[in-house]
Amino acid sequence: TVDEQAKRIQPQTLTADAVPIRLLANINLLTDLALAAKLKCNGVGLYRTEFPFIVRTTFPSEAEQFVIYSKVVDSMQGKPVTFRTLDAGGDKILSYYHDIQEQNPAMGMRSIRFSLQNRAIFSEQIRAILRAGVDADLRIMFPMISSVDEFCRAREVVLESLDTLARQGVAHNDRPKLGMMVELPSVVELIDDLAREAEFFSIGTNDFIQFMLGVDRTNDSVADFYLPHHPSVLRALNKIVRAANQSGREVSVCGDMAHEQQYIPFLLGIGVRTLSVDPAYLLRTQQTIAGTSVPKAEATAQAMLARNRTDEIVAILSAQPAVD
Ligand code: PEP
Ligand code: MG
Repeated sequence: TVDEQAKRIQPQTLTADAVPIRLLANINLLTDLALAAKLKCNGVGLYRTEFPFIVRTTFPSEAEQFVIYSKVVDSMQGKPVTFRTLDAGGDKILSYYHDIQEQNPAMGMRSIRFSLQNRAIFSEQIRAILRAGVDADLRIMFPMISSVDEFCRAREVVLESLDTLARQGVAHNDRPKLGMMVELPSVVELIDDLAREAEFFSIGTNDFIQFMLGVDRTNDSVADFYLPHHPSVLRALNKIVRAANQSGREVSVCGDMAHEQQYIPFLLGIGVRTLSVDPAYLLRTQQTIAGTSVPKAEATAQAMLARNRTDEIVAILSAQPAVD
């Protein structure tokens, strides 16, 4: 039960050799907040803002968004809160907007593309986030960034909103950290360039694997091809995390891979020090981390990165001691 989990979870997450790991929560609905707060997570690593948009029949107003976002900020009591801007489209359909059928919605007018094409909606959301985050450790990240241009365009909208709020004398957070999701393979080749622009990265492995391997994450008939341990995925993750760490940019993993026990040693082994997971997985993830030492994780990761055959990588994964 939740109370049992709350009793067992530690305020600080440490590896077996006492390396501190930041353990953050993914928040979808406001009801997830109570659990996250109770389980002493180190903040919100991913607040999926599309949920208040999905459950309504029209776009929520800035005022309505402000109320919801303030609840997220308040519940974290000064811990970092990462707002992901609207990730509409793909598998997150807005019934009142998505009347045009797209043949490939996952690759359609969605996410940051949608926001940049609908500037008024995007600006309203940014204003609501900046206002709600007035006293918070506020981070804003953009989903599905594909290029440096796109990141800069999105940042421009935030800078404009900051300007307007300041001119209007509206209370707001004037120093949000601006980061991006790593979800598209196009970002891998640009990661050093993006590290000069973005203040942090969060790797969305759900979409990253989908697009890296060309496998629909929602299609059960191809689920066997959806491989987090595909050698290209592993090597790309290694490249991203290295680049981020070398540039001193925080990099977290917020996709499902972050809570899958068998992959946690690999993630720690390539240098990930921040994981963001659904609240239900906080305790289990902390326990998995506590059972993993960094030198061992590094050896496991290096062994996995050296292989190009999936069955050999699976053998390494299966040889890991089971943690419970
Ligand atoms: C991801 O793609 O891994 C991610 C965290 O975002 P979402 O699951 O909301 O697409
Ligand atoms: Mg995603």
